[in-house]
Amino acid sequence: MPEGPLVRTEDLRVYFPVRKLFRTVGYVRAVDGVSLSIGRNETVALVGESGSGKTTFGRALLGLVRPTSGRILFDGTDIASMSEKELKRVRRRMGIVFQDPYASLNPTFTVYRIVEEPLVVNRIGTKEERREMVMRALEEVKLNPPEFFASKYPHMLSGGQRQRVAIARAIITRPEFVVADEPVSMLDASIRVEILLLFREIQRRHGVSFLYITHDLATAKYFSDRIAIMYAGKVVEEGPTRAVLSEPLHPYTQALIEAIPDPDPMNRFKMREVVPGQPPSLLNPPSGCRFHPRCPYFMKGKCDVQEPPLYDLGGGRKVACYLLEDRAAGS
Ligand code: SF4
Repeated sequence: MPEGPLVRTEDLRVYFPVRKLFRTVGYVRAVDGVSLSIGRNETVALVGESGSGKTTFGRALLGLVRPTSGRILFDGTDIASMSEKELKRVRRRMGIVFQDPYASLNPTFTVYRIVEEPLVVNRIGTKEERREMVMRALEEVKLNPPEFFASKYPHMLSGGQRQRVAIARAIITRPEFVVADEPVSMLDASIRVEILLLFREIQRRHGVSFLYITHDLATAKYFSDRIAIMYAGKVVEEGPTRAVLSEPLHPYTQALIEAIPDPDPMNRFKMREVVPGQPPSLLNPPSGCRFHPRCPYFMKGKCDVQEPPLYDLGGGRKVACYLLEDRAAGS
């Protein structure tokens, strides 16, 4: 197996211009200096409230959004500076599963055509070979018998079955990296577990790396090896899932964990919105630490003046908070 992480970003920034009367009046800093790596066969959960930049980050990794600056290394090659033609070749090695299984499938296509499409677009296999691959993919996502489901249209399926079709489509080109963007948040609790188990099974069988984007720490606990907590375009805490959830260090992570209503992640999959205060505007983020207007430990003259660095505490743990300054110095 090749060395190093499969995906790595270095100081990645994605800004969107805001225009008024044909003039740029500012920038929405959706992703603002994120350095994160995803190992081979690893699942990293990117957790945060809506509007924190998670989806934009995921789309940038797939080359669907062009970064403003920084690097995105996929298997050692920077895709941020690639042409569309080069990107298309690399995208064959990537897949995406969206949140909404209703909106993400073309309602006029049969399941067969939906799942076959990436093969056609990428000119993979003969008609016969493609048929075999589609049937195998449907079997793999447990849509059995595959011939039965292949002829159905999306509206004839349940939400969970639709999401399985979306997963079959995402894995049919045998991607090494999949971005799963809130893939279970619109499904019933019982189906969520099944879909997460399916991701695990696919990972075990094919060695896929996942970026699992979610606002829900409970499912992140269940599915990920490492967690990165994103707040207002930045990663504020990162580390092995078990360590972060048993000893959250950033005040924002602590607030999110208090927001899980039940300690058993198998029982509860919905997080209450109880972090006090509102997420900041990405157009005009607060000075210094972006969490300072909501932070119970806010230190005036420090937290609101300069942004805290992402302190490396050892053991894979990193935290962007001045409270960890001494611990980082001693590590
Ligand atoms: Fe709170 Fe200051 Fe830490 Fe930010 S740097 S999380 S405001 S204590």
